[in-house]
Amino acid sequence: MKIAGKTVDEWIGTHPVISQVMKAEEVFWANPIYQPVREAETGLSIDDVKDAEARLRRFAPYIAKVFPETKTSGGIIESPLKEIPEMKKWLEQESAVGITGQFMLKCDSHLPISGSVKARGGIYEVLKHAEDLAIEHGLLNESDDYSVLAEPRFREFFSKYSITVGSTGNLGLSIGIMSAKMGFRVTVHMSSDAKEWKKNMLREKGVNVVEHPDDYSKAVEEGRRQSEADPNDHFVDDENSKTLFFGYSVAALRLKRQLEEQGIEIGEERPLFVYLPCGVGGGPGGIAFGLKQVFGDHVHCFFAEPTHAPCMLLGLVTGKHDKVSVQEFGLDNRTDADGLAVGRPSGFVGKVMERLLAGSFTVDDDKLYRLLAKMSELEDIRLEPSALAGVPGAVHVAKTGFYASVHPGMKGRMDRAVHIAWATGGGMVPEDVMASYIERGRE
Ligand SMILES: *Cc1c(COP(=O)(O)O)cnc(C)c1O
Repeated sequence: MKIAGKTVDEWIGTHPVISQVMKAEEVFWANPIYQPVREAETGLSIDDVKDAEARLRRFAPYIAKVFPETKTSGGIIESPLKEIPEMKKWLEQESAVGITGQFMLKCDSHLPISGSVKARGGIYEVLKHAEDLAIEHGLLNESDDYSVLAEPRFREFFSKYSITVGSTGNLGLSIGIMSAKMGFRVTVHMSSDAKEWKKNMLREKGVNVVEHPDDYSKAVEEGRRQSEADPNDHFVDDENSKTLFFGYSVAALRLKRQLEEQGIEIGEERPLFVYLPCGVGGGPGGIAFGLKQVFGDHVHCFFAEPTHAPCMLLGLVTGKHDKVSVQEFGLDNRTDADGLAVGRPSGFVGKVMERLLAGSFTVDDDKLYRLLAKMSELEDIRLEPSALAGVPGAVHVAKTGFYASVHPGMKGRMDRAVHIAWATGGGMVPEDVMASYIERGRE
């Protein structure tokens, strides 16, 4: 049997790392075609990122009004950036390597409204769709105060339209909560492995939840099929949506400001390393793309995936992107990491990132739980398993001497490096579920 034109043995022959990946071992892969930003042609630009940021600013008065928890940030949905020194010490002891520089956590787990990284892309896509409709029908101008959107006449207008999405959980939460708030009819197609509490929370908010016995790809396929039959329906395409992608990318502009507020300037003398949990790729891809536009060659981004579902890694290593799946390489795509149980990566994201990404690594589920328990114990930060995937990244970079390999002779600058693990979810996990996660991690 061939996979994208080659046998497994041929793939392993040219890319030996695949043999470890197939055994579900933890791997670290430095991207052999990693390039300087100006040489990597993507067809996308910083203007797309800025356009998305401006749109979110237009919506801020509305968000502040309908989600009072965002009032203090003026309706801007943003998360804290925290140093996690105790976690750093523990990781160094555990792995017996020194991590030079600062070690930080970007707490998208605690983004307002939906408690995961999906509050960036997902909410942004719903807002953009609402804006497009309202402007097209002469109900809104870009110069208006968007808090008018909270008026009943807009809810009534949006109720003529519907939004559909397929999701393993968190995207459904973001799309569902935001769409329902605006007045859209909304349907979330979920895979069977989606958590019960997520389905219940959505149903309570008036979202139509459809469950599918198969995996995530099937849920997406079914959602897409039903959406196509209805001209008033908008399908949120997790695999191909540029809107989602640019919604996520705004994080880069925000992070730059946050670092500056903390007196940290990224540049020649201070490299930035960012470790992003990756599912289908839109979230981490959008953020990493934005970071490369903002920080250029001074930022190095890595994707982190579960050992049983490293779809983006296989897409990048083979260069075949969405033409390969983890199942074809003998993996079962089973992981407790919500949002990361994805068998086939986004081809769009893979192609945009193939020369911009520094590398990728995989993490075992047991390790995710252990890190989860330690993060709770040492830093008092509670995350869902997937959100821990980026944490071991700094250890890999230290162990492999990654920086010296891409910037020969610049080893000394690692002393001033900033490492950021992107914590992608956990803020809405019910207490009893969180307690069981922590318990499992302790064991
Ligand atoms: C969705 C999600 C990711 C990854 O985002 P993709 O766009 O699917 O790659 C990571 N962590 C959590 C908690 C998520 O919900």
